[in-house]
Amino acid sequence: MSDKRIKVIYFSTGGSEVRHANFSWRKFCLISIISFAIIMLVVGTVFAVFTDFYHNFKIESLSRVNTILTQQLSEMDNKVREMDKRMGELEMRDNDLRVFVNLPKIDEETWKVGAGGAYSNNDYELRFLSKETGDQTLAMNLLLDKIQRQIDLAQKSQKDIERAANEKKSLWAHTPSIQPVAGRISERFGMRLDPFIEKVQHHYGIDIPAEVGTKIHAAADGVVEEVQNSYLPNKGYGKYVVIDHGNGFKTKYAHLHASLVREGEVVKRWQVIAEVGNTGRSTGPHLHYEVHQNDRPVDPVKYIFN
Ligand SMILES: [Zn+2]
Repeated sequence: MSDKRIKVIYFSTGGSEVRHANFSWRKFCLISIISFAIIMLVVGTVFAVFTDFYHNFKIESLSRVNTILTQQLSEMDNKVREMDKRMGELEMRDNDLRVFVNLPKIDEETWKVGAGGAYSNNDYELRFLSKETGDQTLAMNLLLDKIQRQIDLAQKSQKDIERAANEKKSLWAHTPSIQPVAGRISERFGMRLDPFIEKVQHHYGIDIPAEVGTKIHAAADGVVEEVQNSYLPNKGYGKYVVIDHGNGFKTKYAHLHASLVREGEVVKRWQVIAEVGNTGRSTGPHLHYEVHQNDRPVDPVKYIFN
């Protein structure tokens, strides 16, 4: 193969005149390959240096981020521990309230684990963290999980307490607790000398002397069960009213001058239901007041708190 020559036109360094050079093909190829190699080497080196610089920059930046995240993790860890402590205080308060409304206490073991199953997170990825950070993350996760279950438990308990408190409030409203007429108690509950037959007999209520027409108040919320307006002179209770308070409690107001309620009427504590009188077997104007619990008369004084 003949070595063909090649003519190269180029500008001199000054750029003012055009010059010519003649090369053989072989020489031209050699120069091209060497030039290409040099260019590749230079580009490669620049690229490597830049990549190295970029990686270093990135590592430094990630390291900074890592330091910040580790600090943040520690701070969060402290906060979570503080939350755990406060949950303990909440537990004590919750149990105090439960005792107050007659609910059984939630035992410590139940509180410790909260309601529901145990923590079950795949901790495989934690292996990539340092041991300290990994342990801290795992412990925090477990603690947060426990706190979450405790919050669920506390929310449920709060509902129970609310319901029990309402029931208690309602029970209290329906329990006789006031003296229906203000004044001195002249005859107490128990054995006494009957002024009519002059024999010792059981007195099933208390007597409170008062002027005829004195207002009589219902001892608790309830429903009027009986209103008796007809009576025989000098016999029995005279005119009387019986209120059913529910939960086994009933109250009876006797020797009335007048009743001011109807059978089936819903009454509230302190509502005026009748007037003091002297009807039936009575030696003078007074209220004869009885409290019955499960159909047995009990001492009304035990149900007077005002
Ligand atoms: Zn009496």
